Amino acid sequence: MIKPEIFVRSCELPDCPNRRGLWRALLEPQRGYSLEGRWYCSPECFENAATLAIRKLIAGMGRPLTKPHRVPLGLLMLSRGLVDDEQLKKALRAQKESGGGRVGEWLRHIGAVSEEQVTRALGLQSSAAVFPLERSKRYLECAHMVPFHLLEAAEMIPVHHLPASRHLYVAFGDRINHSALFALEKMLMCRTEPCLAVKSLIQRALEELRRQPQEMETLAAGIADPQKMAGTILDHAETQAAADVRISGFDGYIWARVLSPPSHTDLLFQIPRTSRTVPSEPAK
Ligand SMILES: [Zn+2]
Repeated sequence: MIKPEIFVRSCELPDCPNRRGLWRALLEPQRGYSLEGRWYCSPECFENAATLAIRKLIAGMGRPLTKPHRVPLGLLMLSRGLVDDEQLKKALRAQKESGGGRVGEWLRHIGAVSEEQVTRALGLQSSAAVFPLERSKRYLECAHMVPFHLLEAAEMIPVHHLPASRHLYVAFGDRINHSALFALEKMLMCRTEPCLAVKSLIQRALEELRRQPQEMETLAAGIADPQKMAGTILDHAETQAAADVRISGFDGYIWARVLSPPSHTDLLFQIPRTSRTVPSEPAK
């Protein structure tokens, strides 16, 4: 005799108060709520799971993802013969006296190198290619995949998208933001490839994108409490009968995407600085 297989979904919240027996679950089918592909039996369970996810994201904010040890930019430029000893000393002195700024910026400021040379050196430093943003406007086709506020916060531009292989090339002005890349991969379900582009061209592209019509994007700047954020996300998920919800975040933003195919809505919450536990990385 073939044993009939019965598929009954059970709530993914570990301390779900509505644990039901098999027969009750069969007799009372529930619509449920999906968060990152996990099923929750009630609005309360969804809200609790979303609150936990947001708390975890906030706790990790400002903690840079590990990256390989890099050669200091000034030394790299010196070894490549782009600057001489005297110029590097002058730039480092100016950096020390001003109490900040990046070495590359100071080398530019004293007229030792061009912006393009700094970008190329940054590319060598992080083993990333330099994207010719001055020759390509392909970003206008793919930048809308990410809410504009996040592009602005991380000073990044998605420059090229390959839908067949689900690859997204993302350009940064001076520092590859690995937290941002991690969030993009999770939210867009794609592979990201970081590259660098001349910083002023990144700024120009951001200006152009600012003038473009924006996708469905809601910025809830006044909500700082994780549970209230989860409640707002739940409201949108219910109104839109969402098939799934994904949550991520970086650089002081919580980003929720409410998916109701074929469309989606992005919700952004800005985290006040005081709520982030770890100070951000000092400039190098
Ligand atoms: Zn439950």
